[in-house]
Amino acid sequence: QKVELAKLVSEPTVTRDGKQLELASNIGTPKDVPAAIANGAEGIGLYRTEFLYMDSADFPTEDEQYEAYKSVLEQMEGKPVVVRTMDIGGDKELPYLELPDEMNPFLGYRAIRISLDQQDMFKTQLRALLRSSVAGKLRIMFPMIATLNEFRAAKAILEEAKQELLDEGVAVADDIQVGIMIEIPAAAVLAKQFAKEVDFFSIGTNDLIQYTMAADRMNERVSYLYQPYNPSILTLIKNVIDAAHAEGKWVGMCGEMAGDQMAVPLLVGLGLDEFSMSATSILKTRSLISKLDSNEMKVLADKAVNECGTVEEVVALVEEAMAKL
Ligand code: PEP
Ligand code: MG
Repeated sequence: QKVELAKLVSEPTVTRDGKQLELASNIGTPKDVPAAIANGAEGIGLYRTEFLYMDSADFPTEDEQYEAYKSVLEQMEGKPVVVRTMDIGGDKELPYLELPDEMNPFLGYRAIRISLDQQDMFKTQLRALLRSSVAGKLRIMFPMIATLNEFRAAKAILEEAKQELLDEGVAVADDIQVGIMIEIPAAAVLAKQFAKEVDFFSIGTNDLIQYTMAADRMNERVSYLYQPYNPSILTLIKNVIDAAHAEGKWVGMCGEMAGDQMAVPLLVGLGLDEFSMSATSILKTRSLISKLDSNEMKVLADKAVNECGTVEEVVALVEEAMAKL
């Protein structure tokens, strides 16, 4: 089976009825890129830049960041690279950044909330990203966006950084897509409005499930609630994808659910365009997708969203469909 999968490394990702999708890899550092390529990644769907900050004794400089981003873009040779601005806070701490003691760190000072508050740090990252943009196909993504105002504020700082660089005579690509993570239910609910202003969405189910179900993603005691197949989660995902497509925008998913073999048939049916996962899941997902008919999966997903009330009902539906493959 391994040999069979290996044959798919340089193949496109296509459903049985010929619909082309994109399978990308999640990475944490430039060192992860060779494994992504070796496993057939068609792009990087999530570069978690916080590791650059966490592996450093002090704030990484603009040049240090530039080198890291450029390295990823160059290694990907023109394939799309979605870089997420830093997502510190929650459970991720920095020794050199004083964070407040909070009752609920996952509901507190985190990710874009820190970036919009500490704009010098944010701008340094954005300048590094913009400088790297000429080395490949860069896409910039903001994490933990809850409101349109946050997106607009982040985008304005990005534009400011771009203008500064252009004034300094530094080249910046002019086709950089700017998108957001959908990982807070408020953004998923308001997807229709966001879709008019962003270039793309990437659904972060790790957090989206935790916040929708009010169930800590690390807490075993409430793990029965933390279920990707919950019809409420599927309904949110459908809302996001439909809203984006109505505006001609694409939607990816970079949470664990994107590489979950039971979830993939549903996500194909819901119309997800890009799936980003750990490198080791890519080939088996490509193989699975090649066996799926996108229209049949649409019927399946519609049924899951419209007729199922429980996780068990959704799972039974998917299992039945998988048994027929
Ligand atoms: C997510 O929340 O699904 C996600 C991809 O981000 P992280 O796991 O880094 O919070
Ligand atoms: Mg997240």
